[in-house]
Amino acid sequence: MSKIHIVSNRLPLSIKKEDDSFNLSPSVGGLATGMRSIYKEYGGKWIGWPGLSKDDLTDDELLTIDEKLVSEDCLAVHLTSEEINLYYEGFSNNVIWPLFHYFAQFIDYNPEYWEAYQKVNHKFAQKALEIVEDGDIVWIHDYQLLLVPEMIKSVKPNVTIGFFLHIPFPSFEVFRILPWRNELIKGMLGADLIGFHTYDYERHFFSSVRRLLGYEISFNEIHLEDRIILADAFPMGIDYEKFETKAKAIAHKSLQERSELHRELEKYFLVSPDRKLILSIDRLDYTKGIPNRLNAFEKFLNKYPEFRNKVSLIMLVVPSRDEVEQYKLLKSEVDELVGRINGQYGGVNYTPVWYFYRSLPFDNLIELYSTSDVALITPVRDGMNLVAKEYIASRINQSGVLIISEMAGAVKEMGEAIIINPNNEEEIADSIHQALTMEMEEQRRRMRYLQDRIRRYDVFKWSGEFIKSLKKVEDIQQNFL
Ligand code: UDP
Repeated sequence: MSKIHIVSNRLPLSIKKEDDSFNLSPSVGGLATGMRSIYKEYGGKWIGWPGLSKDDLTDDELLTIDEKLVSEDCLAVHLTSEEINLYYEGFSNNVIWPLFHYFAQFIDYNPEYWEAYQKVNHKFAQKALEIVEDGDIVWIHDYQLLLVPEMIKSVKPNVTIGFFLHIPFPSFEVFRILPWRNELIKGMLGADLIGFHTYDYERHFFSSVRRLLGYEISFNEIHLEDRIILADAFPMGIDYEKFETKAKAIAHKSLQERSELHRELEKYFLVSPDRKLILSIDRLDYTKGIPNRLNAFEKFLNKYPEFRNKVSLIMLVVPSRDEVEQYKLLKSEVDELVGRINGQYGGVNYTPVWYFYRSLPFDNLIELYSTSDVALITPVRDGMNLVAKEYIASRINQSGVLIISEMAGAVKEMGEAIIINPNNEEEIADSIHQALTMEMEEQRRRMRYLQDRIRRYDVFKWSGEFIKSLKKVEDIQQNFL
């Protein structure tokens, strides 16, 4: 049986140095969950950066880490602080991230970033080439590694390569802005199957391939000189059962067993039975539409005064990239808006916006999902948005309303949600009103459809479908020869 190896920027483990030893703990993110079953089942390795700078480690320590990782079937690509700075913070997060999310004004066109990106992608490819054999499958992930497919294919043409992009692929008119656009597309075309979250991203990719390189495309096949490549949409799911099971367990907890956060939430509802909670959860990022959400919430309180003292927005913002200037500015803007709304509408017993700037443990997330009447998800661009799916999976009694931006990839699977344009604050304010006044029967009717769909296409189905298509592409290519 052919092996399946995974390549991603980060390994699915975090390593902590405690006293003189290194401890590994598994990551709980969606990608790690979906892929763990795959590479273990198919006897492959996971190749990635372990998350520590090489500069801070001695040669002996590097060896110790490598040995520990081998026992987990992981291979480390060690990076220096300079490489992390230029390849990861630089090209990945200050060039590709803003460009692919339509924030071209934030791009830093630093040629040193591009140099480092090529060099580090080469490092990842070399590490994979140390272990990959003819007939194996390699599945490469995300925007940090766009050049790796071609770097592996050119050395080992008999390896089947899958690539999945976890962020949007922008329209050609935006993608063309980049000086290195052709190199990036050629890098991706080293893959045999290219996956996107939505059909729209796939279409944008096709138009860039056609316009920049002139290849012929029929249906979802790209015809290169010597090969056929497939591209398709695979909307990434969540581990639905994990969320549902935890939500059920939390619902059965006695008052004493509940967390402090959960008890605080319950106190909020005790003040008046018709109080409601709106929830938002995201990383601090300019793509997530946090200021427009706050402005819209303020408009809502202003336009519908009967809801003042009765509705609060719990906003969990996870710190991210906060040493970067744009993120610092965003943080101040959010702080200021929260202060303004709470100053204007708050009272002794009422805080309009509960703002947490930190990350929370899994149990607390589920408590937030299960106690909030509405989830308000307003990104201005978002590849998928897993929070929307997690909210749906945690609503075990089928109550609750999801408001979601039309700019999130997840919206394609969420026809029963209230769909908003994140730049239309008036519309968001009215949608909040619609959500808060929606009859229970209607909430349940919508939620059931959403749950059926999200449960069916979970993260295991997602990875399984991708692997199935990879095998299909092997057949197509054999017929082509
Ligand atoms: N999340 C988390 N801890 C927190 C808040 C959020 O682990 O304190 C998780 C959340 O459960 C979700 C992910 O972070 O799985 C965010 O994924 P999403 O696709 O919504 O956005 P991204 O950050 O990947 O752009």
